[in-house]
Amino acid sequence: MRKPKTIQERMAQIKAAQDAGEYTRCPRCSENTMKPRLHTNALSRQYDIMICDLCGMDEAKMAFMGAPKPLAHWACLNPVRDDFKDTSAAQALTQIEEAQIPFLTQLFQYWLTQPADADWEAHRLDAYEKCPGLTTLWFEPFVARYTVAEGTLVVCFRLRDGTAQYAADLLAD
Ligand SMILES: [Zn+2]
Repeated sequence: MRKPKTIQERMAQIKAAQDAGEYTRCPRCSENTMKPRLHTNALSRQYDIMICDLCGMDEAKMAFMGAPKPLAHWACLNPVRDDFKDTSAAQALTQIEEAQIPFLTQLFQYWLTQPADADWEAHRLDAYEKCPGLTTLWFEPFVARYTVAEGTLVVCFRLRDGTAQYAADLLAD
């Protein structure tokens, strides 16, 4: 399994885009809450990047309560992935089977052998990048969820007789 881009590397890219004026939303909450002059916003306590004043206050509050929001949950690392929201579950599944199941199966097999890999958050972000429309990926159990026209398409992976298998199920809205 190729080593995924680390969360720090992803954040460094966003910081560079922010410094260049190309990324103007708040990287933590993704709202249009940043003041135009970048350096007048709040400096994150968690990472060397500017965030909006509301997030700055939220971080201070969370730190006070001893519960910092994990870096991987920042909005800039989790863009809305609704590529299949107007696609039927059957069509989406065809595309997923063609383009994503081989990668996800490989990741599932890696997860079975390396559950303690410290980079699972990075692997998750890597999967989001490689699998358009993937809304959430859970590891225990290993489940990929997609928002489709009818509701949520759930693809569960499991090991049966030593072989990785998957099953798709539609949860209607
Ligand atoms: Zn914010």
